[in-house]
This record gives sequence, structure tokens and C-alpha cells, in this order.
Amino acid sequence: MKNKREGKVIFSPYERGDAVKKVVAISREDVLFELRESILKGRGGAGFPTATKWTLVSAAISDEKFVVCNADEGEPGTFKDRILLLEYPELIFDGMVVAGYTIGAKKGIVYLRGEYEYMLKSLEDYLGEMRKDNLLGENICGKIGFNFDITIRLGSGAYVCGEETALIESLEGNRGEARNRPPYPVNTGYLGKPTTVNNVETFAAVSHIITKGGSWFAKFGTDKSTGAKLFSVSGDCEKPGVYELPWGTTINELLEIVGAKNTKAVQVGGASGICIPKSQFNRKLGYEDAATGGSIIIFNESRNMLHILKNFMEFFVEESCGQCTPCRIGNVKLLEGIEMIENNNYTFSYLNHLKELGKTMQVASKCGLGQSSPNAFLSILENFKDEIFNNGGNNGK
Ligand code: NAD
Repeated sequence: MKNKREGKVIFSPYERGDAVKKVVAISREDVLFELRESILKGRGGAGFPTATKWTLVSAAISDEKFVVCNADEGEPGTFKDRILLLEYPELIFDGMVVAGYTIGAKKGIVYLRGEYEYMLKSLEDYLGEMRKDNLLGENICGKIGFNFDITIRLGSGAYVCGEETALIESLEGNRGEARNRPPYPVNTGYLGKPTTVNNVETFAAVSHIITKGGSWFAKFGTDKSTGAKLFSVSGDCEKPGVYELPWGTTINELLEIVGAKNTKAVQVGGASGICIPKSQFNRKLGYEDAATGGSIIIFNESRNMLHILKNFMEFFVEESCGQCTPCRIGNVKLLEGIEMIENNNYTFSYLNHLKELGKTMQVASKCGLGQSSPNAFLSILENFKDEIFNNGGNNGK
């Protein structure tokens, strides 16, 4: 791993239209080349290479293609896209125009989290400004035949609709439930057409990459995790908020930056992420170690880890769409297990069965919701077993 390089990437200087003006002067292949050079990986959490995704959609043969911006930021503890949507819409929308140009789409759709409805008017006004500046519409920036426009659609508060295929179902007017993959949206997406679905922050990164170059972007971060990342930091610290830090930053370094004291645990990746104990605070944030879509929740010594876990599992029981059995039943069983520990009415043998159930959910659930919901259960029971099973007076049977 190369030494991490400091500096602002997403929050570096940028003027509306910079990337659009630049992109219309280069070819699709040039865009894909810059993306490959940047080694940009998707910022929603999974880290799929953006160049690969766009190359696949670009190569798909179809009369129509779509660009979808996943702004259904619903992971507990995640609010970095909110800041981009409120303060840096130019980065997101310009990045979507670049995507439209690259894959050959005429239409972009922002799927905006229902709870972010208050932003809708200002974002639509912003799109109107872009149309006036010919950054959207027909023959964009004088490029004959390059027509692209963006609309915004509101979600209705379902966490599962952040999963890309449930999001597409919702866009099509159906109940928000995940589809089987493959086929992936790159081939069979919105209305069955090739679609690139990218996170808000991914589009923002693309705008900088096109303006400043893929190799500029790749200088930040580490070899496998290039660029910088926005982190939503909440919990027990003096300065919660959104931070841009290079990948490769250690948890210890982050805790110092945000003024966290007496930290016992850090939940990396929100409720669906893993809970890291103090002994592992030297771990690096990045795809090669502690990967995350950017949610960091800090817990100090005063917190009860079982209460935290119960809170997460209640969330998943509430938000499971109920379509597949591992997720619908599994989350309920894990929550019951936590309540059994609380009531000192458990056996270790049963808890071991629940751990096996959690691992089964990780592989057998249909979508990312059920595949990641046991992460907190497994990591908290493992990393904080002394606190949970000894200090609470619960010794099992
Ligand atoms: P995934 O790894 O299955 O897919 C990631 C992306 O790559 C998708 O767009 C998918 O279509 C594409 N992809 C993967 N394999 C492909 C292939 N062979 N061909 C073409 N395209 C391919 O992950 P996922 O299930 O889409 O997402 C799970 C992630 O979502 C988790 O890592 C979690 O961190 C994140 N998440 C984020 C939030 C949030 O609010 N940002 C909330 C919950 C979960």
C-alpha cells in the first residue's frame, strides 16, 4: 500500500459546467480511459469499478439507455450525499451529463430519498439554470446530436429502495423489491434497458476526474483505494459532520480529527457495516481493509453494545421488504436472540445456531439488505463478548 496522499478531491475547486465543457471535446473512449486511470470505485459502498460499469453499459446494444443517480441515502449514520445535494449539485448533475455522453443515454433520473423532499425545489431550479446555460437539453455546449436531460423522482422512505434493482422497480411504479441479478442493470435496468446506476458521490468524483484527469485522482488515497472519500461521522465525538479524507486514513487518525475521546467501538459502514473494537483502531479505511460507503458511528465507553445491536436489528426487522425468507425471518430471529441475552434466557448453543443463521443470511438473502444486516450481529457478539456475556451478569446456560 502506498502512503496515503492528503488533499481535497471532491471539495477541490470546481465551477458548474467544467466537466461538461471538457467532455464534449473528447471521445467516449477518452472518458473511459480517464476513468480507468482514476481507478474510481463506486462510492455507495460496494466499490465496483466505475470504468467497468460504464464500459459495459456503453457496449450494450439498445435503442435507449439510462443514467440513474442513487440519491436514496438511507443507511443509518450516512448523510454525506445530503451535503453534496445541498451544497454541490453542480458536481452531481455534471457527472450525470458525462455519464449520458459516455454511455449514449438521453435521459438521467435522480432517485431522491423521500426524506430529502425539502431539497426538491432547489434541485429542480438548479436543473433549470443548467438548461439555460445549455448544460442540459439539446446539442449540449454546441455538441451537435448530444441531447441529455435530468429529472428527479422521489422515493417514499423504504430503505430497500437504495438497493439498485428495488430502486428501478420503484421508478417503474412497482413495489420496491430487489430483482435477481444477473442480469445486472448494465444490461437490463430501467424499463429493461441498459442503465448505469451510480451513487451521488460517484458522479461528483467523475466531474473532478474529467476536469483534472484520472491520474490526478489516482494520486490520492492508496493503490487499491484511490481518491478521497466523504465520511459521515456521528456519535460520541466533539465534531460530528461530513469529512473528506484520503482512503488509507486509519480509524485512530479519524477519531483524533473529530475529537473522539474514550472510544470503545466504531461502526464502519452504518447499521449494515461491521463494529470495530479499540484493539483494531489501527485499521485503514479503504477497500483493502475496512471498506465503507462512508458511515462512521462512534461509541464511547458509556455505551451498552447490546443496546446498540438491538437498535440496529430493530431497524432491519422494520426495513426488510419481506420478499425472501432468509432476510424476512432471519432478522426477526437475530433480534429475538438479542432479547434472550437481555433477559438472561439463552444458551450458547442456541446463540451459535444464530451465528450460523447470520452467515447463511449473508449468502442466501436475495439482496444487499439481508446479505449485510447480520454484519453488526456477528461483529458485535464476537468483538464485545466480554462485555455482553460477563459484565451483564449473563453467563449463559
Ligand atoms: P454489488 O457488489 O452486488 O454491486 C455493486 C455494483 O456493481 C452494482 O451497481 C452492480 O450492478 C454492479 N455489478 C456487480 N457485479 C457486476 C457484474 N458482474 N456485471 C455488471 N455489474 C455488476 O453490491 P450491491 O448489492 O449493489 O450494494 C451493496 C452495497 O450497498 C454494500 O456494500 C453497502 O455498503 C451499500 N449500502 C449503501 C447504502 C447507502 O446509503 N449508501 C445503504 C445500504 C447499503
